[in-house]
Amino acid sequence: MDEAFDAIVVGAGFGGSACAALLSKRGLKTLLLEKNAVAGGKAMTMSKEGFSYEFWPVVGGPSLHSQFHAVLKELDMEDEVELLTPPGIGALLYGGSAGHYEMPPSRTEDQEEEGALALVKQLGLTAEELPQAGRLFADMTSMPMEEIEKLDDVTLTEFLSRYEVPQSVYSYFGMWSNIIFVVPIDLLAASEAIRTHQDFAKGGAMRYSSGGYGRVAEVFAKAVERYGGRVITRARVERIMVEESAASGVVTEQGTFRAPIVISNAGLQPTVLRLVGEQHFDKAYVSYVKGLIPSWGIMGLRYFLSRPVFDRGAYIAFADGSYMDTERFLKAKAGEMPEDVVTFVVVPSVYDDTLAPEGKQCALVGTICSPDPDAPDAEMWWGKLEEMVDKLWPEVAECTESKERYSSYHVSTLTRDHVLPGQGGECIGLAQIVGQCGSDKPSARSPIRGLFYVGCDAGGHGCGTHQAVDSGVNVAALVEREHLTRASMV
Ligand SMILES: Cc1cc2nc3c(=O)[nH]c(=O)nc-3n(C[C@H](O)[C@H](O)[C@H](O)COP(=O)(O)OP(=O)(O)OC[C@H]3O[C@@H](n4cnc5c(N)ncnc54)[C@H](O)[C@@H]3O)c2cc1C
Repeated sequence: MDEAFDAIVVGAGFGGSACAALLSKRGLKTLLLEKNAVAGGKAMTMSKEGFSYEFWPVVGGPSLHSQFHAVLKELDMEDEVELLTPPGIGALLYGGSAGHYEMPPSRTEDQEEEGALALVKQLGLTAEELPQAGRLFADMTSMPMEEIEKLDDVTLTEFLSRYEVPQSVYSYFGMWSNIIFVVPIDLLAASEAIRTHQDFAKGGAMRYSSGGYGRVAEVFAKAVERYGGRVITRARVERIMVEESAASGVVTEQGTFRAPIVISNAGLQPTVLRLVGEQHFDKAYVSYVKGLIPSWGIMGLRYFLSRPVFDRGAYIAFADGSYMDTERFLKAKAGEMPEDVVTFVVVPSVYDDTLAPEGKQCALVGTICSPDPDAPDAEMWWGKLEEMVDKLWPEVAECTESKERYSSYHVSTLTRDHVLPGQGGECIGLAQIVGQCGSDKPSARSPIRGLFYVGCDAGGHGCGTHQAVDSGVNVAALVEREHLTRASMV
C-alpha cells in the first residue's frame, strides 16, 4: 500500500485526534493512525459486562469554556456528545493535620454552594487566616497574562512564599499540583499553575462526557472521516520516514503512507528516540530530548460494586501529610510511606447512569506514583491506597464484586513507549515544571522539516486532556500555515 496524504497524525489520543479532526475540517487530506482499537489514549473509554469506564480516574477542567467545547463547535459535532457539568458533582475531603475526613452531605438536585466560599469552609479557614488566603486567591485570579509569563522560572512553592499562606491552603495547592499536573508543588511552574487556576475560576472543573470520558476523542476521530480523511486503528507506526532531512511518511504494520507533514502524538521522547531515530537529529537536540523530565504517574484500583456507595461523581481526599513534594516522594520511594496518600476517585455512572448495570457502580481510584513502568514498589502504593479506601468508605469492602489494579506499567503499555529509564508511564506527558513551561516549553515544531509534535508534550497548556486538546488546536493552526506556505511555493 502506498497512499499519499497532506498530513499524517500518529496516535489518536486527545491531542492527535483533535488535531487530525481540525486539519480534515480545514481541507487537508489527513490520515489518523492509532495502535489501539479505539481513540482516546490515556483517557480512552472501554466497556465490560455492562460497565463503561476509563482505565483510571479521569475528569476534566475547565468544565465550561474549554477547548473541548471549541473543537466540537468548529467540527459542528456538538450533538454527538454531551459535556456533563452537573452542580455539586465533585467533593474535596480535607483531613487537616490528623487525617480526619468528613464526608459531604448527600447530593441534592438543587444547586449547591460551590467555588471560593465552599473552599473556605472545606479548608476550615479562620477569620485571621482569611485576609491572606483571600489576597492570594484574588491575585491569582486577576493576574494579567504579561505578569503570569514572568513566572515561568518561579515554582509554585516560591510564589506562595510571597504570602503568609495557612497550612491548609498550602496543602490544598500541594494536592492540586499532584492531581492537576501530577508533579510536586516545589517544581510546578507558577505560570502554568496560575493560568490553569484562572481557567478553573472561570469555568469550574470535574467535567465528564455522556457515554464515557473518551467519547469526545472518538467523536474527533469520527470527524476526520466525516470531512474526507481516513482513520486506521490497530495500526502501530513502526517508523517515521525522513528523506533529504524532511519528514516523508510513516511505515506501519499495515503498509507505508506518504505525506510531507507528519504530526506525532506518540510522545516527544519516543518520537525522536524510536520512531525517527537519533541519527536524524543533531547531538545537542538529542541530548536536550533525553534530559526532558516526565510527569509522575498515577496508579490504583478499579472497584466493581454490587450496590451504589458513592453519590458524587468525583472525590479528592487530602491531608497536610499526604500531598507529595519532592522530599516526601523520595522518602516514599525509599519505603517511608506517609500515613495517608492523596486519593482521587471517579464514578462514571454518577454522571451518566447508562455507564453501569442498574444498581451497580464502578469506582476508579488513584494516587501519585513513579512514572517508571518497571518501578519495583507498586505493591506498597496499592496497599496504602486500599487502606485509604477502607478508611474513607468502609462499605466498599463488603460490596466489592471484583477489583483490578493498574500502575505506570499499564499506562505505558496502553499509550507511550518506554524508551528511557524511568519514563513511559507518565500520567500527563512531559512535566509542567520550571524549565519546561511557557517560553521554555519544548517547541511543537521539530528540527526536521515537516515533523511536528502534538499532545501534552508540546503546544498546549492546562490540565491533562485539556492541555492535549489545546495543543491539538494550536498545532493544527501551525500545520495549516505550513501546508498553505508549501502550496503557495509550488
Ligand atoms: C491514571 C491517569 C489519570 C488521569 N486523570 C486525568 C484527569 O482526571 N483529567 C485529565 O484531564 N487528564 C487526566 N489524565 C491525563 C490525560 O489522560 C493525558 O494527559 C492525556 O490524555 C494525554 O493526551 P495526549 O494526546 O498527549 O497523549 P496520549 O493519551 O498518550 O495519546 C497518545 C496516543 O498515541 C498512540 N500511539 C503511541 N505510539 C503510537 C505508535 N507508534 N503508532 C500508533 N499510535 C501510537 C497511543 O496509543 C495513544 O492513543 C490521567 C492520566 C492517567 C494515566
